[in-house]
Amino acid sequence: MSDTLVQIGGAPPAARGPRLPEWARKSRTHFESLNRLKRGLRGHGLHTVCEEARCPNIHECFHRGAATFMILGERCTRGCGFCSVQKLNPRKHETQLDANEPGNVARMARQMQLRYVVITSVNRDDLDDGGSRHFAETVREVRRALPEARVEVLTPDFRGDLDAVARVIDAGPHVFNHNMETVPRLYARVRPQADYRQSLAVLKFARGYGAAEMLTKSGFMVGLGETAPEVRTLLEDLRAAGTDVATVGQYLQPTRRNLPVVEYVEPRQFDAYRDYGLGLGFRMVFSGPLVRSSYMADLVREEASQRC
Ligand code: SF4
Repeated sequence: MSDTLVQIGGAPPAARGPRLPEWARKSRTHFESLNRLKRGLRGHGLHTVCEEARCPNIHECFHRGAATFMILGERCTRGCGFCSVQKLNPRKHETQLDANEPGNVARMARQMQLRYVVITSVNRDDLDDGGSRHFAETVREVRRALPEARVEVLTPDFRGDLDAVARVIDAGPHVFNHNMETVPRLYARVRPQADYRQSLAVLKFARGYGAAEMLTKSGFMVGLGETAPEVRTLLEDLRAAGTDVATVGQYLQPTRRNLPVVEYVEPRQFDAYRDYGLGLGFRMVFSGPLVRSSYMADLVREEASQRC
């Protein structure tokens, strides 16, 4: 097989891209626990990325006691091509942060008896601190409410403001995650308001600033038109930044307005990326069609426990 990833169907991608292959599908299970949790979330006016991003692993993760909360509002000041979160226009929309949000996230996480809580946010480039104080407060509230749980933060790049990164780390997350999302050649299309080197700098700073027992983590999607050598270079760059854990998953088009899937990467290619990453020295590499940022987060938790 050539180094270039196989494009299914061979023809240029249609508006909706190639057909979803069997290996990228997931059976729906655990409906009961999922519906119970959804009712609880609505009651607190909270949102999980698991739902917003239509994550294919939502049933499994909720059932396992892991969930990802999205804070700093429902709208984002950026417009990444792969993301279905609505755009925030500060002239038109409410920009005030909900002061009760940190406490509500903590209460809901406790009610859900979560063992692993992921806190992420939209980008808030309109705020002086990028929302980092609110982010840090949410981490502190969750850690107070659920001292046994592990907390992972999946942060924006805070426009490269390392004081903001430090503020979040000072709140004591067990895992600091910042996603690269794609290879640098595709940034202009996939992540136009972000900068590849800036994101690497955030991860490198986090590794140096955080305590040794805090893991750093990053993830990206494949199927957006990248090549295998580009993916290997991205993994090398992440390792050079000291990143401990990498996640590699198939991009799935969340709505028809988002970028089309260029290709469905075959499972053996995901295995090859995992093996390559492990060879580079990552502590863990999760690589597979349905892998998402927080997939199998409880395994990361176990690893983190051994280091704490
Ligand atoms: S910054 Fe995050 S939330 Fe905002 S559009 Fe991009 S991926 Fe979506």
